[in-house]
Amino acid sequence: MTQSHIRNFCIIAHIDHGKSTLADRLLEATGTVDPRQMKNQLLDSMDLEREKGITIKLAPVRMNYRPAANSRAGRSAPSFVYQLNLIDTPGHVDFSYEVSRSLAACEGALLVVDASQGVQAQTLANVYLALEANLTIIPVLNKIDLPAADPDKVGAELVKLLGCRSEDVLRVSAKTGQGINEALQAIVERVPPPGGAPEGDIRALVFDSVYDDYRGVILYCRVFDGSLASGQEIKMMAADSVGTALELGYLHPNMTPDKTLSAGEIGYVVTNFRSVSEGRVGDTLTGSVNPAKRPLSGYREVKPFVYAGLFPASAEHYPQLKDALEKLSLNDSALQYTPETSHVLGHGFRIGFLGMLHMDIVRERLERDYRLELIVTSPSTDYRVKLAGGGYMVIRSAAELPDPASVVEISEPWIRGEIVAPAAYVGALLQLVASARGRTGNISYGESGLAVINFEAPLPNTLSGFYDKLKSLTSGYGSYNYELADYRPEDLVRLDCLVAGERADALSVIAHRGEAARLGRQLVEKLKEAIPKQLFVVSLQAAVNGKIIAREDIPALKKNVTGHLYGGDVSRKKKLWAKQKEGKKRLKKFGKVDIPADAFRVLLNQK
Ligand code: GDP
Ligand code: MG
Repeated sequence: MTQSHIRNFCIIAHIDHGKSTLADRLLEATGTVDPRQMKNQLLDSMDLEREKGITIKLAPVRMNYRPAANSRAGRSAPSFVYQLNLIDTPGHVDFSYEVSRSLAACEGALLVVDASQGVQAQTLANVYLALEANLTIIPVLNKIDLPAADPDKVGAELVKLLGCRSEDVLRVSAKTGQGINEALQAIVERVPPPGGAPEGDIRALVFDSVYDDYRGVILYCRVFDGSLASGQEIKMMAADSVGTALELGYLHPNMTPDKTLSAGEIGYVVTNFRSVSEGRVGDTLTGSVNPAKRPLSGYREVKPFVYAGLFPASAEHYPQLKDALEKLSLNDSALQYTPETSHVLGHGFRIGFLGMLHMDIVRERLERDYRLELIVTSPSTDYRVKLAGGGYMVIRSAAELPDPASVVEISEPWIRGEIVAPAAYVGALLQLVASARGRTGNISYGESGLAVINFEAPLPNTLSGFYDKLKSLTSGYGSYNYELADYRPEDLVRLDCLVAGERADALSVIAHRGEAARLGRQLVEKLKEAIPKQLFVVSLQAAVNGKIIAREDIPALKKNVTGHLYGGDVSRKKKLWAKQKEGKKRLKKFGKVDIPADAFRVLLNQK
């Protein structure tokens, strides 16, 4: 395809502002999908995406577009069709690395803003990313069909944010289809065609890769230079692996084979690679004959910073968990894991995630797609520990913290972020940040009563509850976005939990000394509710460096459950026994005490 007839763009927006629905309308308007096959958020193809109504993975698709004649604009229909390559992206902050990868493959971005909600934290973050990647941004006000939509006000916010003219802001309804043709026209008029040398050595950026059980590793690429042919020998420049492009083509939205992918085009390449490590995301694909001299600039490698232990509910399922994690990580380059052994929970894995949503999604996929029953410990981050003998160590769980005597200093990760919310909530939000041990910086007030609060906070304190509190404090209007800033030494201690006098390693957490007493009390209170009564009194204690700071006792069980059903009906007793057994399945034997799986999650909802 002639480069001047190609346009590559992605759709970026805060979560729920209508990216995937807008993509539906574009697919429809360009006749890419048969109307009979059309369904809502078509590009959200994973079950979990459809169920949760969110996009988790980026999705590329190619459309052919022939603009209609427009006599008012003095335009006649061109004799050619445009090739539009669209990438739909996820809006949640955990997946912003998917967004930055999509941006690097495109020349333009549709920035979608819900006209009833206005600019939100992820809108800002996406604008910064798009500007950094030098993309042409087309602002789009969506949901103008809603009675609560205020396109003039939100349009003014966008004009201020982007420094564009108000007539540049498109007004559409992805629901009714209003304004969709204007959006397509704006894409071909405003997004520049791809550059690159069609005759040069092949260079294609791998922006995603998937592992297909039947076909092997499939790469999603944007070709920058040269032309890649089906059947050609290929080379990955960073991995230094060679293979064959068994098949290539584009997504329409299903895989459609083609003979070549040439400079400017986006498509897929089925390879004979056995593992995704041979064709990593961010690598440059070139030809094994006449390889390119220099690779394209790739991406920053993603670094997980939320860690949790995942253990099979029963020990014999450890091999299945291992297998499932291996498979899952083939399609999720951000997922990292190492084996972990817990005194209480046995063999499992410590897994690194990009955030809490990522963690929930991985857990759900393991439980659902692989039918595993899992115990997940409360999430934490990594800490840098300065040792007395000199040197540092990185720990990913509280249990790994060495003896306090050998520790000089513990540093925790801090985030730098922005909260966007109506100005009326600023006071409450400042308190929220302070309660998370954070500090607020600059506060700016935009058009139409919107405030942007810059803040810094320790990452561990924003993991559980922070987002929910922010949402409820601002009646749902607030949002925040963050990035990792640095590691800062703080007065941190390990908070241990003793069950019947013995330390339960999986329940230990690292906390600030000033917060330890309150957390310890909460921990034992919640555990008291979570652990069922036993035949003897069970003491629950929270301790810092061996010093007990909180205590609760679980009183002993008085009689057995069927005791009161004397005489008579055996079937009723059997039912009760069966129920008791059911409950036991997810109990972990700890010394003499049975701890239910849920108890290991008590800290999830703290603070
Ligand atoms: P995404 O998270 O940005 O991909 O957003 P979705 O496309 O999944 O849409 C989020 C919700 O907004 C869905 O319930 C859509 O049906 C709804 N929605 C999207 N566009 C419009 C619109 O133009 N008007 C109305 N009324 N609802 C819309
Ligand atoms: Mg979506």
